[in-house]
Amino acid sequence: MQKSFEVLGSARDSKARRGRLTTAHGIIDTPAFMPVGTQGSVKGVSPGELRELDAQIILGNTYHLFVRPGLDVIKHFGGLHKFTNWDGPILTDSGGYQIFSLAKLRKIAEDGVEFQNHIDGARAFISPEIAMEIQAALGGDIVMALDECIPYPCEYDYAAQSAEMTTRWAKRCKEANVQRSTSNAQRPTTVASAVSAESKGDALGTAHTTARQLLFGIVQGGTFEDLRKQSAQAIVELDFDGYAIGGVSVGEPEEKMMRAVESAEPFLPKDKPRYAMGLGTPPQLLEMIARGMDMFDCVLPTRLARNGTAFTDTGTLNLKNAEFALDKRPIEENCTCDACREFSRGYIRHLIKAEEILGLRLITLHNLHFYLNLMNRARIEIERGTFDQFRKAFVADYKTREAMRVE
Ligand SMILES: [Zn+2]
Repeated sequence: MQKSFEVLGSARDSKARRGRLTTAHGIIDTPAFMPVGTQGSVKGVSPGELRELDAQIILGNTYHLFVRPGLDVIKHFGGLHKFTNWDGPILTDSGGYQIFSLAKLRKIAEDGVEFQNHIDGARAFISPEIAMEIQAALGGDIVMALDECIPYPCEYDYAAQSAEMTTRWAKRCKEANVQRSTSNAQRPTTVASAVSAESKGDALGTAHTTARQLLFGIVQGGTFEDLRKQSAQAIVELDFDGYAIGGVSVGEPEEKMMRAVESAEPFLPKDKPRYAMGLGTPPQLLEMIARGMDMFDCVLPTRLARNGTAFTDTGTLNLKNAEFALDKRPIEENCTCDACREFSRGYIRHLIKAEEILGLRLITLHNLHFYLNLMNRARIEIERGTFDQFRKAFVADYKTREAMRVE
């Protein structure tokens, strides 16, 4: 089978890698940032705008889509790509994280999780097999094994038992996924020929029904170094297309988050992509890249935009502050995003204060551009062999200026 991931280069003084991941809907250059499309939409941004921002992959939240509009609606439209009109790669999560953070009355057992959703309280049950089935119906290019994401802080014994259950769930996900691709492979001709007969332009859009979905396993283990190591070894033993580190950025101090990743990383194979889930700030992303991580997703650029916060090389700006009222400069000098090319801080501040939708959209576009461009800069610096100087200078400058601003 053709390899889906290739490491194209590595940094000299850290574990940073430059890679390329091939999926049914296109190529992802790593390190990569994945904008989060929680409910089938990256808040406030159209698929066309995402393409203009050079986003190569977006994330869809299985739990949210499962609760609303529900699988039947998405199946009716032919999967998430067609429903949302995003034709690039999509990663869907397993739903586990939201079940554990949003849903009510959870009952976790070996078999799976029973819960009441946070919208209308309807009861539902998700097992590893059902998580695979839902994600197959959504049609994501990368799908995630069901895991239990434990909170911080967490007792050692619970973290240990939970990580072991996550491994058993991962095994069941893998088996369900293999079974599905085998049964798909046994009846590909009718579907495949119907697809190619339809139209050339549509061939990629429907390829996901027959192309194998890449399945990533998730390492857990909380903030315990030995559990992180054991979890990584057990998950790698099951042989996935990629490996995620979950249960990080859940309220633990940054130092513990870094240690959790450092404890698992040496046990992950170098020839597979590594995904650090649900983080983080711009300096954290660069630190994670230096620790061998390749993929990231985070709601910060879109969530903070909604309260007027913009990311820059020198920390965040809260555009609601009075100091920006008469400021004619763009959010960030030399930024090539639409917001910065066309509008002043003073105008965007006015829009945010007046609760005009355009204000939130402009900051969102800038913030997404910032995150995506930061990954692009990291890739170029790794290729040049200068990533570690770049990272150290960026992190120092960002943190110092941010601290000065807060005081
Ligand atoms: Zn900008």
